[in-house]
Amino acid sequence: MTLTATGPVVWIDGRLVSPDEAMVSVYDHGLLYGDGVFEGIRVYGGRIFKMKSHLDRLWGGCEAIRLTPAVSRAELEAALREAVSASGLKDAYIRLVLTRGKGSLGLNPNHCPKSGTIIIVDRIHLYPTEMYEKGMPIIVAKRPRIPAECLDPAIKSLNYLNNILAKVEAIDAGVHEAIMLNTQGFVSECTGDNIFVIKGGAIATPPVSAGILRGVTRRFVIDTLAPTLGLKVAERSMKVEEVLAADEVFLTGTAAEVIGVSRIDGHAIGSGVVGPITKRLEAEFKRNVAKDAPED
Ligand code: PMP
Repeated sequence: MTLTATGPVVWIDGRLVSPDEAMVSVYDHGLLYGDGVFEGIRVYGGRIFKMKSHLDRLWGGCEAIRLTPAVSRAELEAALREAVSASGLKDAYIRLVLTRGKGSLGLNPNHCPKSGTIIIVDRIHLYPTEMYEKGMPIIVAKRPRIPAECLDPAIKSLNYLNNILAKVEAIDAGVHEAIMLNTQGFVSECTGDNIFVIKGGAIATPPVSAGILRGVTRRFVIDTLAPTLGLKVAERSMKVEEVLAADEVFLTGTAAEVIGVSRIDGHAIGSGVVGPITKRLEAEFKRNVAKDAPED
């Protein structure tokens, strides 16, 4: 492909190709069994945002599912930069996927000699823009989050059917996102976002032990954004009643960024608009990603 194009590109197993040319084998266990791990990463102003945190999580996931990447971490970093640069996009979304690779029919991952590496550089627009101003209505899904002893939600694996089926509940209810409870009845996270509540100025978010993905944006709120505003975040278990009674609720994710929740199951959160602390966190988020800081 020409490297002068501005638009989506795909880096796949060492080759840079256009999206139409990017192919995986039908024998790849990533396709056959959802056997693999992935990341969603943002590029702001040409800088790959929180690359280290994403690669740490990806490598943790590989270890957890005993997948040996075909590329070293340094090679993957170089490939990410090469793909971003080839796309010509300054603000982009990267989907990084490591599959188990091509194998034989049958579950045995040892029959897949070489893991597949896919880097898609594209744009993303997850939720309608006006919802960032007015708040987003969501629901509580009936389907619980899969327990960690079955498939740990901390592993960002290619098995997303648990989330997709909860997302379908949201879509059926006419909204974009759903809160998922764990099998003990505590709040875990949403289908593709982490959740935070604010009551009387105190911020809290479910702990990793509730069965969640260790969101990079969640960590950014806890370690950087909230402290900058002089606020602390408690990581603790919560029931859905606490979320419904909160003054403010907001969600975080690489694609979602920071978004306020207006209603849950039709019930207004606070006065049903984006609350003041959420607004400040959103503004702080934007300020941080826009600034000319070195990649971290
Ligand atoms: N939870 C789930 C289930 C997710 O898929 C994601 C990522 N879309 C998140 C939380 C948010 O994580 P991050 O901030 O790292 O994107």
